[in-house]
Parts: sequence; structure tokens; C-alpha cells
Amino acid sequence: MRINLAKSAGFCFGVKRALEIVKEAAKKEKNLAILGDIVHNEKVIQKITKLGIKKIKRLDKKANKTIIIRAHGEPQKVFTLAKKLGHKIIDATCPMVKEIHRIAKDMEEKGYFIIVIGDKNHDEVRGIVGQLNKKAMVIENIKDIDINKIKKIKKVSIVVQSTQELDKVLKIVEVLKRYIKELKFFNTICMPTRIKQKEIKEMPKKNDCIIIIGSKKSANTKRLYEISRRLNKKTWWVNSKEEIKKSWFKGVNSIGITAGASTPDETIKEVIKYIQLIKNKSKKN
Ligand code: SF4
Repeated sequence: MRINLAKSAGFCFGVKRALEIVKEAAKKEKNLAILGDIVHNEKVIQKITKLGIKKIKRLDKKANKTIIIRAHGEPQKVFTLAKKLGHKIIDATCPMVKEIHRIAKDMEEKGYFIIVIGDKNHDEVRGIVGQLNKKAMVIENIKDIDINKIKKIKKVSIVVQSTQELDKVLKIVEVLKRYIKELKFFNTICMPTRIKQKEIKEMPKKNDCIIIIGSKKSANTKRLYEISRRLNKKTWWVNSKEEIKKSWFKGVNSIGITAGASTPDETIKEVIKYIQLIKNKSKKN
């Protein structure tokens, strides 16, 4: 049984950067709090908690806290309120998310109505929408498109949540193009996501089964799972080795493995070690 690990498996640039910022802050700052989860991974969050960083759900009135802004970013009003309350801000927003903010704000200033293609309830999407002065439209799926509303908009700029699947996004853009005269599309899917998705479009064809490692809360992991599952029904999504079932590997000669952008290396290694153990045991029997 061969194990093929995707080159892009695990932490992306933005997550690594955010964790470095957090570690450095923990050395220097007292009264440190993080607004929400730094990234969507339970193990990473546990480590952050061990550093003595408190997670808060919303900004409270007790001043003089240092607040870390997570990799997904936050709406502008969060920054304004934090300053008003006297908090210091350490901004760990991924630069690629910041770039989406910049484009959306710039295009709004130029008179364009902003459409965000992404998951309506995702923190990153809320953060993008929350940069704008006017209300933006979020489109998650083709079936969400309200043609009557769309027809009335003359100038549209489209940005995309960084972890969306390109094929799905392009299909939505195609529909929008039919109804909107002036449409500017910015493909803001980040490079680490593009590389991960490119690999996962190949791996399911070359392996008997696929294991995707990452938290069930992680949007980019979900996307990897969905792409792989469409190409190979024997695709399994696990958060840790404990969720792996031996029965998945019956008659399997090669296993492809990849992991979401917020999955730590140590979880990937544990999964590989566990599969090797299963493999060795089945050889002996
Ligand atoms: S997935 Fe992309 S946008 Fe999100 S943190 Fe990683 S590099 Fe940044």
C-alpha cells in the first residue's frame, strides 16, 4: 500500500504567519485576547490557549487589552470599536485577505456595486463585506442568484472568498455576465488554495482512496473534500487519526493524503503513522 502525500498539504502561508504573530505577541504582551478562533483547527486553538491567550467572542468594555485579529480578518467596525475602547490591536489578517479588502473598497469608491462570491456565514466573507460603506451582495451558489435584483445593477465588481473553488466561481460569474453590462471580475482565490485545489483534482484519479485531514469547521478543507469526492467516492474527511476506519483500506493499493490550510504538520504525521500501522498489521495477518 503506497501513501502519497500532497506537496501542499497543511499550513498555508497566511496561517503560518498568523501563528508566528500570535507567538511573538504572547512573549511580549500581557492581557492578550483573541477575537474568535485564530484559524479553524481545534489543535491549533488548544495551543494558543496554552500560551495564555484568552479567546473572546466580542469586544468588551474593559480597556487596555491587546486584541489579536485572526487570519480571516474582521469588519472595519471591529477595528474602530477596539480603538474606541482603548485596546491595542495586533492584526494577523492574512495579506491575501487584506488584498481582497483593498480591491473591494477601491471598486466601491469607483462607483461599483460589490458582489462577494463566498460562504455567507464565513468569517472571511463577513470581514470583506464589513469593509464597505454600502451593502454588498454575497452569492454562495448559482441557485442564490436573484435575477430580478441583478438586472437592476449597472456596474458590478466581483471579489471571491480566498478559499472558493474556481470552477464553481466561474459558473456564477458566467450567469452574472448575462445580466450585467459592466462587470469587473477579480479572481481573489489565494495562491495556496489554487495549488491545493490543483493537486486534489489529480490525486483522486491516481489513488484508490483519498484522506482529507482538517477540522469540520474549515472551509478550505471542506472544498478539498468536495472536489475529491466528486472524482473518487472513496474519499474520507478526518480531523485526526482517531476517526480513521481500517475498513477503508480493504483492497486499496494507494492512498492519497492532503490536509487543509489550518491542519498542523503533527496531525498529518500522526495520520500517516497510523495508516502505516494498519498496513503493517494487515500484512502480518
Ligand atoms: S487560505 Fe489563503 S487567504 Fe486564507 S490564510 Fe491561507 S493564504 Fe491567507
